[in-house]
Amino acid sequence: MDVKIIKCDSGPSICRPSWDVYFLKLAMLASERATCPRMHCGCVLVHDRHVVSTGYNGSLPGSPHCYTDGCLVVDGHCVRTNHAEINAICQAARHGLSLRGATAYITNMPCTSCAKALLAAGITRVVVFSDYHDTLAERFFAEAQVELCRLPMPERKIHYELDKYSSARPFPKPCCEKDHNPASPPAGE
Ligand SMILES: [Zn+2]
Ligand SMILES: [Zn+2]
Repeated sequence: MDVKIIKCDSGPSICRPSWDVYFLKLAMLASERATCPRMHCGCVLVHDRHVVSTGYNGSLPGSPHCYTDGCLVVDGHCVRTNHAEINAICQAARHGLSLRGATAYITNMPCTSCAKALLAAGITRVVVFSDYHDTLAERFFAEAQVELCRLPMPERKIHYELDKYSSARPFPKPCCEKDHNPASPPAGE
């Protein structure tokens, strides 16, 4: 058996994120599924470095999207969607998963209602990289002694250098391309 250690002095660049940055980038990725043009928010709920649930601000299952049918605005706010945090909590509930002691990674500071829902669900740490208007989230988090971390916004780039990896190569012709068209996903998806 021929066993060697081969050091890599050339090849792909190393951009290994911390756990916090990793999960925040997942929250940014979740926000790409948002269905309201007024706001794109993503939320990832994590326990012991395990993703329990994800969510983005989106319409109820089977309901029209703001992008296709317009925002449903009440007193200046669109109410057609559930917020990302609520959708992530509901997704965990659907699958019977506890959020006690979990961390919420969110693209922005939660609104007051979402902050209270996160607390009621048992979240004990919140990580965000941007603020939100008119929210009492910080007040409620402080009262509940929930740790709040404000990190810089992670870079908006996924580092995947397929052309530089020695053990992988692209398909000559990918199949199922129609399933990957990001334009206007149908309502209810
Ligand atoms: Zn909307
Ligand atoms: Zn909210």
